[in-house]
Amino acid sequence: MKFIDLESQYIHLKDKIDQRIQDVLNHGQYIMGPEVKELEQKLAEYVGVKHVITCANGTDALTLAMMVLDVKDGDAVFCPTFTFFATAEVIAYEGATPVFVDSDADTFNICPQNLELQIQKVIAEGKLNPKAIIAVDLFGLPANYPEIEKIAEEYDLKLIEDAAQGFGGSINGKRAGSFGDIATTSFFPAKPLGCYGDGGAVFTNNDKYAELLRSYRVHGKGKDKYDNVRIGMNSRLDTIQAAILLEKLAVFPTELEARNNAAEKYTSELKSKYKVPLVPEGYVSSWAQYTLQADNRDSEMAHYRAKGVPTMVYYGTCMHNQTAFTYLGYNDEDFPVSSRIAKAVFSLPMHAYLR
Ligand SMILES: *Cc1c(COP(=O)(O)O)cnc(C)c1O
Repeated sequence: MKFIDLESQYIHLKDKIDQRIQDVLNHGQYIMGPEVKELEQKLAEYVGVKHVITCANGTDALTLAMMVLDVKDGDAVFCPTFTFFATAEVIAYEGATPVFVDSDADTFNICPQNLELQIQKVIAEGKLNPKAIIAVDLFGLPANYPEIEKIAEEYDLKLIEDAAQGFGGSINGKRAGSFGDIATTSFFPAKPLGCYGDGGAVFTNNDKYAELLRSYRVHGKGKDKYDNVRIGMNSRLDTIQAAILLEKLAVFPTELEARNNAAEKYTSELKSKYKVPLVPEGYVSSWAQYTLQADNRDSEMAHYRAKGVPTMVYYGTCMHNQTAFTYLGYNDEDFPVSSRIAKAVFSLPMHAYLR
């Protein structure tokens, strides 16, 4: 049994994907070929946003968002402590200060009450300029945007949705990738929508942001190809990856349903034995991970291993315990919920071809 079965998916889509790759080899436009534009249009339709700007990976997508919002030295950017490293990394990479926030124990996502508390603390201390929030759709479940949007508005903060794991999720029909001022995703192979290498995308309804994103993506280009008007980066999505994603996106709604069926089955079979993941009313998860909580995690994982079922721990180390962030001076008492769940979580195999 595989934890994420990319091989079954490839066998299922082989003829179509092989043909799409062959098309690229035939036309030879490896950089920004027609498949990139086609993918950006299809992603915009699916997510329900005006602009999609693909890029090289999900970390660059977040970095591009930071650049557009002019996040810099002296700024505070709020993000969950229980997430993948990249969420916090991109804040520090811009020279700004990540301010970590505790989690909701039922959904694993950023806790709106603790978010407000952390914002008020930064304001009271008066050292940093509160600038933005990065909310994460952890394990595929959209964060609590109805509450987070209110807080962002009240404190005049920009909101970024890190939908690296959330692509396909929704709240009352509004899809992940459409929340906040800018949203980002990743096409890393193991994500709900993955390519065969690295890839990412940025989503926004803001015309000005979209124009800036297209410029930053290619060395800060201006109207003239050889006049660069700002400092940018080189972060394009390869045409071959776009071609693969077009075929994967076409079957994505069916796969999303299969993932949800698998999750429902897990929940009905396991809810008497473990704390199972909560999906609030009106929310749909893309089930990037199906994550249980157990006090005796190690022996539970050993039990599954003995039966030939692979399990993984996402995430055993919160951001406030990462070596690279020790300079921020946090400890476990600052984030009691996240610190507790980091010791209890383990994830079961999850993909659309699970039997
Ligand atoms: C995977 C991931 C990223 C980074 O995406 P890459 O494509 O690997 O750079 C960022 N945030 C979260 C929450 C992720 O899971």
